[in-house]
Amino acid sequence: MINFELERPKSLQEAVGILNRLGSRAMPKAGGTDLLINMKKRLIKAEVVVDLNLIPELSEVSFDEDSGLSIGATATCTEVIKKEKVKAHFPALYDACLSHSDWQIRNRATVVGNVCSAVPSGDILPALYCYEAIVNTAGPNGEREIPISSFILGPRKIDLKSGEIVTGVFIPLPRGRSSGCYLKHGRRNALDLAQVGVCCVAVENNGNIEYRLAYGAVAPTPVRAPEAEKAIKGVKEPDDLLLEEAASLAQKAVKPITDVRASSDYRLAMVGELTKRAVKICIERLKEEG
Ligand SMILES: Cc1cc2nc3c(=O)[nH]c(=O)nc-3n(C[C@H](O)[C@H](O)[C@H](O)COP(=O)(O)OP(=O)(O)OC[C@H]3O[C@@H](n4cnc5c(N)ncnc54)[C@H](O)[C@@H]3O)c2cc1C
Repeated sequence: MINFELERPKSLQEAVGILNRLGSRAMPKAGGTDLLINMKKRLIKAEVVVDLNLIPELSEVSFDEDSGLSIGATATCTEVIKKEKVKAHFPALYDACLSHSDWQIRNRATVVGNVCSAVPSGDILPALYCYEAIVNTAGPNGEREIPISSFILGPRKIDLKSGEIVTGVFIPLPRGRSSGCYLKHGRRNALDLAQVGVCCVAVENNGNIEYRLAYGAVAPTPVRAPEAEKAIKGVKEPDDLLLEEAASLAQKAVKPITDVRASSDYRLAMVGELTKRAVKICIERLKEEG
């Protein structure tokens, strides 16, 4: 194991102070399931690890009927899965958290850690893109609210300034009746990163329906597929021909690479297939809601 110092601040102010003072010598830690593994592999270098888990307000998951869901920086995937109303109001997020690793890792790994590690295959990211989540930060120059798609800049690159930490993510409640799903396609069912992750959220308001589609592991950052979304907008039950068109437009929105997990061609084929499945699941779930 590598040597490092551990700081355990008890307030946000103290955490920001430590990170601001130490700059790139220090890294914040939530669950540590990404950070500590990568430090051990010497892919990330940190002399000081700043554990955020003793800061009370960062552990909260709270739901407001009028506005939405707030997930604190140290809330684990399990805590989000178990939070009342998450499955009902944010089913794609629920699916995504449940598809993450296995129970043991989910008991430590956090949603915000998934955001901050910003790996293309991060399972929770496509759902956060579909729900248009806002990332909240605090730092020496105050607080910021950043849309998730602007916060994630590239593989392992985020819009975080020196001394800043992410305090949580806020997920606005979709306006209208909604349903959603996240389909993770991997080489096995547990403890594997996605070859392709497809998220769909359907929102019905005053008889109008819109679909949001987001993809993981098929581009340097998660991506939405606006042209595919447009193709099926307003259609409550797209037929096979229309779904085929949406699937083919989704394939144009992604840029998959070939790596150890899958070839670019295979990923592209799965984007098409899983887009059709995800839209159909959303429609079925919307019907079940009544
Ligand atoms: C066995 C195993 C299986 C895994 N399976 C999956 C999987 O199926 N799907 C998946 O998406 N990932 C998977 N992962 C990767 C990892 O678990 C996730 O990315 C996880 O969500 C990271 O959360 P964490 O709380 O552990 O983050 P940490 O390791 O604590 O942090 C991750 C990164 O974010 C930074 N960071 C953390 N919190 C903050 C903050 N509040 N402000 C600023 N920066 C911060 C850290 O400095 C670090 O760079 C797996 C990892 C392991 C070890």
